[in-house]
Amino acid sequence: MEIKFTCKNNNCSHPGNHQFEMTFDEETIMDAKNMASIFCPFCKAEMFPASAPDNLDGPNG
Ligand SMILES: [Zn+2]
Repeated sequence: MEIKFTCKNNNCSHPGNHQFEMTFDEETIMDAKNMASIFCPFCKAEMFPASAPDNLDGPNG
């Protein structure tokens, strides 16, 4: 399973037309019971996991 993190900083210096996003494997960011904090490499703001489900098709993914 992958989790997408998005930078919520409106003043982010990411050179794009949309907010900066990074995708991690769940195993990468889950340390035992605690989720690691992810920080934007452009503005150093903390990034938050996207809450929207990403089910395009298929009931069993
Ligand atoms: Zn940012």
